[in-house]
Amino acid sequence: MRTVSFARERRLLLAVRGGGHNIAGNAVCDGGLMLDLSPMRSVRIDPAARTARVEPGVTLGELDKEAQGFGLATPLGINSTTGVAGLTLGGGFGWLSRKLGLTIDNLLSVDVVLARGALVHASQEEEPDLFWAIRGGGGNFGVVTSFEFRLHPVGPEVLAGMIVHPFSNARQLLEGYRRVVASAPDDLTCWVVMRKAPPLPFLPAEVHGKEVLVFAVCHVGDLQRGASAVAPIRALGQPIVDVVGPTPFVAWEAAFDPLLAPGARNYWKSHDFVELSDAALDVMIDLVGRLPSEECEIILGNLGGAASRVPADATAYPHRDVQFIMNAHTRWSDPAHDQRCISWARELFDRMVPHATGGVYVNFMPADEAERVRQGAYGPNYERLAKLKARYDPDNLFRLNQNIQPAA
Ligand SMILES: Cc1cc2nc3c(=O)[nH]c(=O)nc-3n(C[C@H](O)[C@H](O)[C@H](O)COP(=O)(O)OP(=O)(O)OC[C@H]3O[C@@H](n4cnc5c(N)ncnc54)[C@H](O)[C@@H]3O)c2cc1C
Repeated sequence: MRTVSFARERRLLLAVRGGGHNIAGNAVCDGGLMLDLSPMRSVRIDPAARTARVEPGVTLGELDKEAQGFGLATPLGINSTTGVAGLTLGGGFGWLSRKLGLTIDNLLSVDVVLARGALVHASQEEEPDLFWAIRGGGGNFGVVTSFEFRLHPVGPEVLAGMIVHPFSNARQLLEGYRRVVASAPDDLTCWVVMRKAPPLPFLPAEVHGKEVLVFAVCHVGDLQRGASAVAPIRALGQPIVDVVGPTPFVAWEAAFDPLLAPGARNYWKSHDFVELSDAALDVMIDLVGRLPSEECEIILGNLGGAASRVPADATAYPHRDVQFIMNAHTRWSDPAHDQRCISWARELFDRMVPHATGGVYVNFMPADEAERVRQGAYGPNYERLAKLKARYDPDNLFRLNQNIQPAA
């Protein structure tokens, strides 16, 4: 509270850092003040009430570990080092979202420090407008110092793993994928990762460095039913390896960590899809054929299910009809390759425009997409958000984010 007032009174630029994971880099600033919440790391599980109280420096892996101690979980993302705070404030989706909704759909209440320095509690009952706005509105409305989540029984084992295919068969595999996930049960989530094969121990050496298509599969529920649900994906093509099996949920939540380790240069471009057209598949296949670095990948996240059974205006996050989120994880290490890598991501993005909804998940936006915030990120909810921004942060103290301008 004192830090927020200090920044406001001295008109300092204020950055708010949760897990420090957002590729737009707004958690840090030059010539301003960074409010670093990462030392606030408490997680308190109430197993009887099935709730978790979480401080804003907590990572997904830390929350999962505590909740899974009681066989419980809430929907989070796919990388254990991501911060709970930023992920939740943008919406939050991952392996449990088709079954249990977005992270915000499981948020029960928050403590928020407002721009005027006051601490308020927000929930459906208290400050309901603020509670609506922070469920998708990012860091625009205040500093969240505590999150309360609903938990659900999950695992502790799920049926999960990767099925790795040669990329030469990508078109048939993607067509099959599109068909299978259209009728998949909510318990099953399958993402696609297209990239050069990293030297993972379960991959034969001759595949390393070659383009592959990976089905990343997670079934949450009875393991026998999981085997039947996964069978149609397993029947697609001739995989190089299939390592899907009973896996501790916490281990699967960290399965992609080695590929998404900190320290890389990042430039992401993302599109939402209700359907994947043939032409969209062809564009992705073409661009995977010209990956600009060993670490770049195109992922297709799989939504729908419970995440779609919420009205678009129930929370600030509006994209409830979206079935797939494409993200170009453009990653590299050498600054000399900046131009090449960024151009590749932009070409992919531009060529996918005709096939996408025009919407975008706010947490996947890079720093240079301010023009997409109004229509792309928030669309029909932007006007209400701008009015609430004027009420809660009229001077736009919290502006180092995908910024919602206070309504006039
Ligand atoms: C490798 C990788 C994998 C990812 N996978 C997923 C995924 O599977 N699903 C998904 O939904 N997202 C995913 N994301 C996106 C992720 O949700 C965002 O990057 C998110 O912003 C990270 O939150 P953070 O707290 O770590 O980030 P930070 O960089 O610390 O914060 C991001 C922004 O959020 C705001 N903020 C943070 N904490 C607070 C707070 N306590 N109060 C107010 N404002 C705050 C600030 O504006 C800050 O600039 C992934 C990101 C990466 C890099």
